Amino acid sequence: MSDVEQTLSIIKPDAVERDLQNKIKDEFIKSGFTIIKEKKIHITKIEAEEFYKVHQTKPFYNDLCEYLSSGPIFVMILEKFNAILDNRELMGATDPKKADEGTIRKKYGVSIDKNSVHGSDSSENAKKEIQFFFKD
Ligand code: UDP
Ligand code: MG
Repeated sequence: MSDVEQTLSIIKPDAVERDLQNKIKDEFIKSGFTIIKEKKIHITKIEAEEFYKVHQTKPFYNDLCEYLSSGPIFVMILEKFNAILDNRELMGATDPKKADEGTIRKKYGVSIDKNSVHGSDSSENAKKEIQFFFKD
């Protein structure tokens, strides 16, 4: 059953580099999300490795962690009814080439690795990821 939920969103280095953070935040707000907390940070590779631990056996893991730690990012807690799935839908497919029209990754993503945004994929991961960046 759907409910008011919180999910973790990240505006990734490729988007911050192109100064797209306000445009992307507007996409969230227009779609009914409330930004509960946000901060701009630059994480270390070690922190990226911890955050993306679920992917540690994947061939792209090292490049992914290098990339997420390569520049500043915006991390946000987004809140909305059905936030986790609705955010995944708004983001679009992992590969921007396969993402639906109107999605954030279709509009702003550069490639499968530089795809502008991260969003939690389940209730369990949303809790873990929110805790990871917002410990208080
Ligand atoms: N990724 C990549 N190459 C791939 C698959 C994924 O570089 O072949 C990166 C991409 O940045 C993606 C992240 O790894 O957003 C996490 O992958 P996941 O499959 O969890 O995709 P997401 O949940 O972000 O859509
Ligand atoms: Mg994922």
